[in-house]
Amino acid sequence: MSVHKLLLLPGDGIGPEITAEAKKVLAFLNETGAARFETQTGLVGGAAYDVHKQAISEADMELAQAADAVLLAAVGGPKWDGVPYEVRPEAGLLRLRKDLGLFANLRPAICYPALAEASSLKRELVDGLDIMIVRELTGGVYFGEPKEIIDLGNGQKRGVDTQVYETYEIERIGRVAFELARKRGNKVTSSDKANVMKSGLLWREVITALHKREYSDVKLEHMLADALGMQLVRWPKQFDVIVTDNLFGDMLSDEAAMLTGSLGMLPSASLGAPDAQGKRKAMYEPCHGSAPDIAGKGIANPIAMIGSLGMAMRYSFDLPKAADAIDAAISAVLAQGLRTADIKGSAASTVSTSEMGDAIVRELGGILA
Ligand code: NAD
Repeated sequence: MSVHKLLLLPGDGIGPEITAEAKKVLAFLNETGAARFETQTGLVGGAAYDVHKQAISEADMELAQAADAVLLAAVGGPKWDGVPYEVRPEAGLLRLRKDLGLFANLRPAICYPALAEASSLKRELVDGLDIMIVRELTGGVYFGEPKEIIDLGNGQKRGVDTQVYETYEIERIGRVAFELARKRGNKVTSSDKANVMKSGLLWREVITALHKREYSDVKLEHMLADALGMQLVRWPKQFDVIVTDNLFGDMLSDEAAMLTGSLGMLPSASLGAPDAQGKRKAMYEPCHGSAPDIAGKGIANPIAMIGSLGMAMRYSFDLPKAADAIDAAISAVLAQGLRTADIKGSAASTVSTSEMGDAIVRELGGILA
């Protein structure tokens, strides 16, 4: 049986608490022989700054490069508000994304039937929702040059950001979306602002050509990003895979997140390009932050973290059975009425972080038996 090497980066705030629950799942899979994992643990964010005065050390970057995947919890918190900009906690995240070449960010928005009441939309609109947002992560307006604030000398300043995409960047993110769609509902909605932006025109042209050349079996539609924002709250179940650029993806994926109720539920994956053996560098992390307001209280929801580990099973370790089992275990504990405080709704009581983790592991046992 092959050994899967996973680097754990618990980070800050609730990070260590939810990482402990993911470790229970890993230990269970190891003990039952379902798979073999070797883990190492590093420091990122404020935790790394406290020890190394860096947001991630060179040694931990080497571990990340050598691992089959990285599982990161969250970084940041008020304790590090005053640290120099280059070593702020988020710099650790950006370094990992950049150095590992993680250009594709996958954010599933799944609404578990048991939690449909927690959505801001009516139950019938979100019950059973299962969409995947594929966001381009390393290009576009967040990175394009020039990027500056110029003093115009007349009491005015000019702020400039540059939205720039090249063909290869659009093609590689398009490929990720089409490949994913083939394994899901076989439909891709590509989103841009081709009506007002040149980069949007190119985006549409490249996606259309790629579809025609390599993926004509997949249904493709184009939708302007503003219209997509509206359709996401009108009838979200019309979507399967949505692919879009860095800026629109940032906003649309947060919008989709709220359809599902709580930030504590949402996993994500960031993938790099496949190497000659088809292996991709990858990092998995919950969509939420370090939740300093509840850190250390034992009440954080570990589901986004455990769901992120599930995504690693699917996209890095080729263990779809384990991934399905993790999803089913999460669904089952929610159906039994177990709730952490953030998803309490009208439930009479709540469970702790560690009780939720234990319950998921117990369910896993039954599912994989
Ligand atoms: P946050 O996601 O940490 O918290 C927002 C709200 O959601 C809080 O009330 C928090 O208690 C709650 N919440 C988040 N995750 C939860 C969970 N698993 N269980 C229960 N409740 C949960 O966002 P924020 O408060 O804006 O940011 C806090 C810190 O996290 C900041 O330093 C920010 O920079 C950082 N941050 C990091 C990441 C990351 O590591 N990827 C992402 C966003 C924010």
